[in-house]
Amino acid sequence: MKILVTGGAGYIGSVVVEELLRDGAEVVVFDNLSQGHRAAVHHQAEFVHGDLADRASIDELMRAHRPDAIMHFAAHTLVGESMQQPFLYLHDNVMCGLNLFESAAKHGVRRVILSSTANLFGAPERVPITESEPVAPGSPYGESKYALERALSWLDRLYQVRSACLRYFNACGATVERGEDHHPETHLIPIVLQVALGQRDHIRIFGDDYDTPDGTCVRDYVHVVDLARAHILALRALDEGSRTYNLGTGRGFSVKEVITTAREVTGHAIPAEPGPRRPGDPAVLVASSERIRAELGWTPAYPELRAIIESAWRWHRNHPHGYDD
Ligand code: UDP
Repeated sequence: MKILVTGGAGYIGSVVVEELLRDGAEVVVFDNLSQGHRAAVHHQAEFVHGDLADRASIDELMRAHRPDAIMHFAAHTLVGESMQQPFLYLHDNVMCGLNLFESAAKHGVRRVILSSTANLFGAPERVPITESEPVAPGSPYGESKYALERALSWLDRLYQVRSACLRYFNACGATVERGEDHHPETHLIPIVLQVALGQRDHIRIFGDDYDTPDGTCVRDYVHVVDLARAHILALRALDEGSRTYNLGTGRGFSVKEVITTAREVTGHAIPAEPGPRRPGDPAVLVASSERIRAELGWTPAYPELRAIIESAWRWHRNHPHGYDD
């Protein structure tokens, strides 16, 4: 099967490409390298440098490669940034996704997997969060992903395009060759590890006055390889119908617990300082992934935070300057 992966030079996309190739797929990566890294693209994948804002180049891509399925990762992905620059998300993320989907429908691609987000649930009524939780995006980022989920439901009805919307909770961890490298880095675990590497003085905790056991935000940290496996399982099931899954381990850890675990893993003191809340951050986001476990037999291979941070630490130590090394 030939899979087109948009954003395949990014963090999650590049790891999914690695897993797809291991699974025997043929992979074409389409990425504008605005945030991704050429070095993150597996050498067995074909790389096309291009932008989803350019409709003509997507049509050309579809004509040239005739993919059997599309996995769509390329997007702006930062909750905090989306509160500062909403139109990067409400406009660019949505427009680029729609360009891709329209081209897919036109060229007869019948399978799409969308990388979606837990930020669809800004203030969840019930935790762990199931797929029947009412959607109320916490930020323009979440809103942009929800718009694309809705668009896919119409592609299903009108063009028989089967889709899976995979709502990741907090993706983290690394493979031996691929890890998290954003410029600037904004995510908790890589920043904590940059402190352990001596590249930063401290980690700032965004709010310690939340209604949670230790006052800091609680998140469900799920290993990027487990996310990648979910894509492969979802792809295999797609012809039986479109679906939506929440993807997490079902366990929540506070910001302080993440820092404590990172101190244990790295042996570094990792100084932490409290700071103000970051707009757009819900207090608690923990997934119920019962649906994908029951329907597809997905089981996280890395349910433990410690093992997740160990894998990230190994990658960061081997690549202290990310892909620039
Ligand atoms: N966080 C923090 N300090 C940082 C970066 C993140 O306290 O420098 C917190 C953030 O407020 C959130 C959690 O860590 O509660 C995870 O944030 P991240 O940006 O890694 O992922 P997100 O939850 O936004 O997808």
